[in-house]
Amino acid sequence: MTTTDTPAELVLTGGRIATMDAAHSWASALAVGGGRIVAVGPDAALSPLIGPSTRVIGLRGRTVTPGFQDAHVHPVHGGLTMLRCDVHEARGRDGVLATIADYARSHPDEAWIRGGGWYMADFEGGTPRREDLDRVVADRPAFLTNRDGHGAWVNSKALELAGVTATTADPADGRIERDPDGSPNGTLHEGAMDLVAQFLPDDTPDEMAEALRLGQRYLHSLGITAWQDAIVHPQPEEAAYVALASRGELTGRVIGAMWWERSRGAEQIDEFVERRKATSMGRYQATSVKLMMDGVLENFTGAMLDPYGDGHGGATDNRGLLQIDPDGLSTWVPRLDSLGFQPHFHAIGDRAVRASLDAVEAARRANGPSDTRPHVAHIQVIHPDDIARFRTLDVAANAQPYWACHEDQMDVLTIPFLGDRWEWQYPFRSLRAAGAVIAMGSDWSVSTPNPLLEMEVAVERVADVSRGEAEPLLPDERLDLVDALAAFTSGSAYVNHLDDETGTLEVGKLADLAVLDRDLFDRGAGAIGQVTVIGTFIEGVPVFEDPALDG
Ligand SMILES: [Zn+2]
Repeated sequence: MTTTDTPAELVLTGGRIATMDAAHSWASALAVGGGRIVAVGPDAALSPLIGPSTRVIGLRGRTVTPGFQDAHVHPVHGGLTMLRCDVHEARGRDGVLATIADYARSHPDEAWIRGGGWYMADFEGGTPRREDLDRVVADRPAFLTNRDGHGAWVNSKALELAGVTATTADPADGRIERDPDGSPNGTLHEGAMDLVAQFLPDDTPDEMAEALRLGQRYLHSLGITAWQDAIVHPQPEEAAYVALASRGELTGRVIGAMWWERSRGAEQIDEFVERRKATSMGRYQATSVKLMMDGVLENFTGAMLDPYGDGHGGATDNRGLLQIDPDGLSTWVPRLDSLGFQPHFHAIGDRAVRASLDAVEAARRANGPSDTRPHVAHIQVIHPDDIARFRTLDVAANAQPYWACHEDQMDVLTIPFLGDRWEWQYPFRSLRAAGAVIAMGSDWSVSTPNPLLEMEVAVERVADVSRGEAEPLLPDERLDLVDALAAFTSGSAYVNHLDDETGTLEVGKLADLAVLDRDLFDRGAGAIGQVTVIGTFIEGVPVFEDPALDG
């Protein structure tokens, strides 16, 4: 299985190399030359490729996988949060408030306290209050997004500055959380965030570029070599990618999904064509368009075919919000498809999933088969009638497996309002059985971008298996580990149109790979999520190395 007899630049030997090729075959050694894989096979067959200047890494039974690809992630946003008031690691309401207080104290010159990462389940009713924030930030406006990005917590100063009062009407695409007298309580949902966000100071070009550097470094440290940025606005995301790509600093391969503005229509399509041409360079390709179909279930903005329950066995008349007009979609999506753009849908509720599939069906009818590889991200609730349509319409299922477990957000804020439909959530194994392509992603900074933690939940359907006994969420929908790994490698590479060159470890492909600290498939050795990445290579060049790699 060698293509050359000249010495290789890099040889990995003595390992468990998961090639993830079509047969899921295994090898013990892999050689790299000129940035590509020149040989894969048994140790003995590759030893002639080791020359005096070859770097040799003895794996001692460790697993090597294709570089992970995150099919839905927000690294610029994640990096900006890392630069600012980051409360992802804080626990409970008081812990979050203490973190914000510390940040405010140590950043006396910032005009706004900005950041995010709070968790709805830490606050009564899922909605934090302005008075709490006022106690720790009284002197300046504060704006902190929740970790799913679908809500913001603001203080009284921010509401005052934006002129948001009891008489302010809710925007069409969002909702102001209010007290019984109508006054805003401090939580703004979805489009209502813009009432305050429009007053935030602009990110500077340096901040945007630095945010992406931080995000990229973090993703590489987790074995991620390529990703799809799931929301690209001209600022800050596009500016950051162009800044790094034009200086040769973008080491990850990135597909940018340009944001479809819900308040506009077909006229923005010409701008996508222009932006694709102007901004795609080096490892950045702006070839996807993000269509945000609905919100999330926890605040009842996820679009459902039938109304939400009231949490006590009764019904409501709320079916959530379909945020993009389905009639418009039936012409816009065929047009995007005919121009070679990939539709990347956000769909949480079963009505949003169906509307996404209907839009692709309209494109198939108008254009016939295409290679744009539409995908639907999140897919929390899928009506059983729609599962088979993923395969028949050639739509990839873009799963965020970390959410497929019992935790407070699921058990307190979701299941009681879904009724029997709770069993339609995250049907990964059913999708696979129906022949759908499955890709995976994290939605970081909503959730951890660590693919091994995410794969653990895909396989176990339990929040943290190392904490001991816990009831899995819908255990029939568990995936086998090899299928979860395929989703994070070849599956996401397919969605990213990078499968010709990456996604599997085969001779001739680019040497994008991750080295793990032990045998991933030795299930007796501990939880999947406790496996760590000790080396990440892109075209054979290390972009992350832990000392253990050579140890
Ligand atoms: Zn997202």
